[in-house]
Amino acid sequence: MKKLDFYIPTKIIYGKGRIKEFGETLDKKFKNIMIVSGKTSYKKSGAYEKISAQLKDREVILFDKVNENPDFETLLRGAELARNRKAELIIGIGGGSPMDAAKGIALLATNDGNMKDYMRGKEIKKNPLPVVCIPTTSGTGSEVTPYAVFTDSDTKDKGGYANPSIFPVFSIIDPELTYSMPDDVLINTGLDALTHALEAYLSTKATPLNDLISIHAIEIIMGNLKDSLKREKEAMDRLSYASMIAGMAIANAGTLLLHAAGYPLTVYHQIPHGRANAILLPAFIEFMKEKSEVKAKVELLEGIFKEHGGIREFINYFGISTKLSENGISEDEINTFVEKTIVKKNLKITPARISKKDLFKFYKDTF
Ligand code: NAP
Ligand code: FE
Repeated sequence: MKKLDFYIPTKIIYGKGRIKEFGETLDKKFKNIMIVSGKTSYKKSGAYEKISAQLKDREVILFDKVNENPDFETLLRGAELARNRKAELIIGIGGGSPMDAAKGIALLATNDGNMKDYMRGKEIKKNPLPVVCIPTTSGTGSEVTPYAVFTDSDTKDKGGYANPSIFPVFSIIDPELTYSMPDDVLINTGLDALTHALEAYLSTKATPLNDLISIHAIEIIMGNLKDSLKREKEAMDRLSYASMIAGMAIANAGTLLLHAAGYPLTVYHQIPHGRANAILLPAFIEFMKEKSEVKAKVELLEGIFKEHGGIREFINYFGISTKLSENGISEDEINTFVEKTIVKKNLKITPARISKKDLFKFYKDTF
């Protein structure tokens, strides 16, 4: 190994009941705190009640307006509130949507303009407000990544923003906050975490250290997702841990073609993010087997899949069809999906040459 880089500046506080350590972890200098959340999960998970009790001596500003797959408009509204109320720190509570929105709001609270400009390469002038993340799903890993994913509702484009300045300063990963997830959220987010670990493992940015984390996460997720659905607490706790470490893996190696190809399914058909990835996952593995420069790695993954009855069977077990035709998508849409996907940076770190023709075939083969 010639070179190795690994960077996670976020302090990680993992464990059941550890949400109670929030108050003591938060620096006393922060007096005006803004909470960014979705509409209900911050309460359903129990996080809000527990956090509020520890913020009694501080000013709390609540922004509970984040929809799934947050858009730019939401960020502008949140940032305006943050500026008006002089927020000094932003806490994202919820799944990836509120955690990502917290990062975007933190950036726009100190920098002018629209998130769209920064996603197109505009430099930030000032550090974003510090962000703290408290996940209530076991999926995105946003609590340990420098990424935030947003949707442009006008152009129907979904994509990620990456900047080390939006790494959370600390994150509390308390598995008890995930127990209230409905089955579909549990399945979709667990499968999202699985794809993170798989893609990080196959990435051109992968390193032996990152691979250890990725493989560990894959084994935990495949070994525990079914039991989690039976509401076995230990299995759910392991998923919280695995999604976090899968987040560390993508923080260092990124996501690939699979994530990019899944975005149009969410934007055009409202298919939840993790589910969209899962639908395309078997095709992605086939594609990598045929086209990639990392065939030995694909074979190793296939060995793990075999222990769990095969990857397609694993996904089908959760009631997810891996055919686009059975997910409400028609073949006429392939060209649009190809145009949206071919421009994504994720393709640059996918270890295969991918032409438009390849991408067309990739989608077509999933019908
Ligand atoms: P989500 O969109 O945050 O939430 C999905 C649904 O689950 C919402 O209805 C939410 O309710 C509900 N929910 C969440 N936690 C719950 C709980 N404990 N109890 C009951 N309901 C709960 O889902 P997600 O899959 O975690 O996040 C997806 C987003 O993250 C996508 O935009 C995706 O692109 C992005 N993402 C980001 C990264 C990254 O590194 N930053 C990586 C991968 C994906 P509420 O609406 O009430 O909150
Ligand atoms: Fe994801």
